[in-house]
Amino acid sequence: MTERVTGPELLDRLDGDTCTRESCSGRLERRPYKDTRAVVCADCSTPVFRVWNP
Ligand SMILES: [Zn+2]
Repeated sequence: MTERVTGPELLDRLDGDTCTRESCSGRLERRPYKDTRAVVCADCSTPVFRVWNP
């Protein structure tokens, strides 16, 4: 059985995670980024994941 993970599911999974940058220990939060839904670090504002399709 193949697991298919949709963009919105990934947003849920990544929300509250720790930033992917080694030099940063910020928390990821869901936030619109340049008109797309995204998960962005609250500390350094790095977009970790973006959903392009509605
Ligand atoms: Zn960060």
